[in-house]
Formats: sequence, structure tokens, C-alpha cells
Amino acid sequence: MELSTRITNITGGGSDGWDVFYKARRMIAAGTDVTELTIGEHDIRTHPDILDAMYGAAVGGHTGYAEVPGTESLRAAVAARIAWHTGMATSPNNILITPGGQAALFAAHNAVCNHGDTALFIDPYYATYPGTIRGVGAVPKAIVTKPDTLFQPTGAAITAVAKGAKSLLINTPNNPTGIVYSRETLNDIAKACIDHDLWLISDEVYDTQVWEGTHISPRTLPGMAERTLVIGSMSKSHAMTGSRVGWICGPCHVITHLANLATHTTYGVPGYIQDAAEFAIGQGADVEEAVAAPFRRRRTLTLKALEGQNVIRAVPAQGAMYVMLDIRGTGMGGDTFADSLLDAEHIAVMPGESFGKAAAGHIRVAMTIDDDNYIAALNRLISFAHSRAQ
Ligand code: PMP
Repeated sequence: MELSTRITNITGGGSDGWDVFYKARRMIAAGTDVTELTIGEHDIRTHPDILDAMYGAAVGGHTGYAEVPGTESLRAAVAARIAWHTGMATSPNNILITPGGQAALFAAHNAVCNHGDTALFIDPYYATYPGTIRGVGAVPKAIVTKPDTLFQPTGAAITAVAKGAKSLLINTPNNPTGIVYSRETLNDIAKACIDHDLWLISDEVYDTQVWEGTHISPRTLPGMAERTLVIGSMSKSHAMTGSRVGWICGPCHVITHLANLATHTTYGVPGYIQDAAEFAIGQGADVEEAVAAPFRRRRTLTLKALEGQNVIRAVPAQGAMYVMLDIRGTGMGGDTFADSLLDAEHIAVMPGESFGKAAAGHIRVAMTIDDDNYIAALNRLISFAHSRAQ
């Protein structure tokens, strides 16, 4: 029996660039002590107070079907948080609660793309982007950025491929590069979207992890609110990756249609999870800052560890829980470097090639283990690079 090409094509065939990751997992299963600096998962767990709120809500009876678009009170809390962060009026009717940011990315593309439409995204990119686009029957098209312009897309590059495209997906602060888009870049993006009538899907799940400068949500730029769908999540801001709770913020009429989609797909997010998310947001920005603090600290430690040598250079990033390192000075590609590092030092990092063409010759290091072990691993990585440099 044949399956739909929509589902069999999600991965696009070929290697998905996660070979090193899976090899590391196999080594761990076989008993090898591997230091994993691969995926975006905090080394702390969800705060016990949030779990208490979750338990209290469940014991209190919020275990039945919850309102499909999200509880009115969580939608209001998310809207108020967005209004506070961005200064832009936002109502609960602008918000759909989703089972995490990933489901929000899928729903957003489903909302704006017809079968066969071109959906643009920026390379380097978070690994699921092309598959998410293929999953809704659209055709992914990458806009390749360059290391020497700090991986920021230009209006000209978007314009060059915009003809006939339906949407553009951006991510700032960015995974994998850690780059935070400048106001100039966002103005260029906004102009290109308006000129070419593109929907903008703005993935802002790292909005609490900004180490320098400020995060600007493109929804706040003139003429953009009516064409922007913002993707948000509790995963990174509150160490709630496993709770699967996020949102889409967009124009009310789009949210109404997205609620119909949710009725026919997820049927909403568990009520006790939503209550826990509402409690967590209610704890305010200090809690978000505390969850982000270890990454801010480790980024400073990383830059210090890299001083006084130039075989490895850090991409001068301003946000997110990763550092991207330029390892072209070793003469190796990111794939070979990551694979050899795993074999020689039992340290697992992601090759830049896992995130598209633009990050070839780089590796992404997730700063997601305790400081001492992190710095020890980083120093071994630096020595390894020097031993292999030609
Ligand atoms: N967008 C980006 C850029 C991410 O890095 C991630 C998770 N790593 C997500 C979206 C999805 O996160 P979640 O589904 O846990 O909210």
C-alpha cells in the first residue's frame, strides 16, 4: 500500500545531517562516556513550583478536554507578555495555544501555504524547517546567508527568490548561529514581505536568551502585524521542553482558522499543562532571566576560552543557548571535524552542515552541561582542533 508523498517526503530523502548525533547516542548505549553538546535541552529541569502548579491543576480536575484554542486565561497571559515585551497591543484573540513551537510552525505553514506553494526560509536553519514545509505540501526554498555578513539575510536576497513565493520563515535569536537580527535586517525583511506580499512566520522561541542588543519582534514594524505569525514557546524560556506548550500570535481572523485546524488535529493542549504555563508566565521576567543565566555565563566562558588562538573562531553571536564555531582553520569540514572529535575525544557537537549549506565549515556547540564540564570539554575541543590544524 502506498503512503502519501506528503508524508514520505518529509525528510526529503538523503542524510539529514544528524549522523554524528545518532552515532553518539549509539556509543552511549554501548557504555562509552560521551559529552553531549548537541541538542537544545537545558541541564536544569522544570522548576518544582511549576510542577506543583501542574499537579494542583490536575488534581483540581483540569484533566478533561480543554478549550481548543487555549484557555482564555493562558491566552490572556501570553497576550499580556507579548504586549509587555514588544509594546504592541495584543489580545487573547491574537493567540492560539499549541503543543509546543514545532506544532505552531506546522500549523502556521498550513494556514498560509497551498499545496505546491513555495515557502522561503533562511539557511542556516533549525533542522525541522524544510520538513515542516514539505509536511504541509509546500515546497521549501532556502535563502543562503553568509558567515561574513553574520548570517543575516538581505532584502536583495529575499527579493531575488520572492516571485511566486507565499511565505518567509525567519528565526531570531537564531538557532544554530546565535545571531540576533538587527533592526536594519528586520526592516529589510519587512519591506521585502510587503513588496512581494509574503506572509512572515517569525520563530521567536529564543526571545528570552539575548546576551547583547535587543530582540525586535518584526510584528511590531509598520504594516507587518497583519502579515506576521509569531511562533512562541515555553520550552526554552521556562525549561519546559517536555510539557509541549507554545503559541502562535497573529491576526484574529487567522487565529480563528487556526483554531479550526486545531479542532481537527491536536484538539488543544492539556488543561493542567496550560495552567502550569500560565503560572510560570505569572512568575515574571526574573524567572525567565534565571533560566537563561547559565547560557549567558557559559557564552562569556566560551569567548574567554577561545582567546589567544585563531584556529577556532566564535561566530560573534548575541543570543540563544548555542555557540557556532568556525573551524575552517583546521582544514576540515564541519562533518569531518564533528565525527573525528567524537571518535578521538568522545565529545559530540553538531556539524554546521546539519543546518544547511551556509554553516559548512562550522560546528554548533550547545552550552547545555554544567560550567566545569562544559569548559573542560571546550578546552579539549580547542586542543583537538590545534592538533589537526594544517
Ligand atoms: N524553533 C527553534 C528555532 C528551535 O530551536 C526549536 C527547538 N529546538 C523549536 C522551534 C521548537 O521548540 P518546541 O517545539 O519545543 O517549542
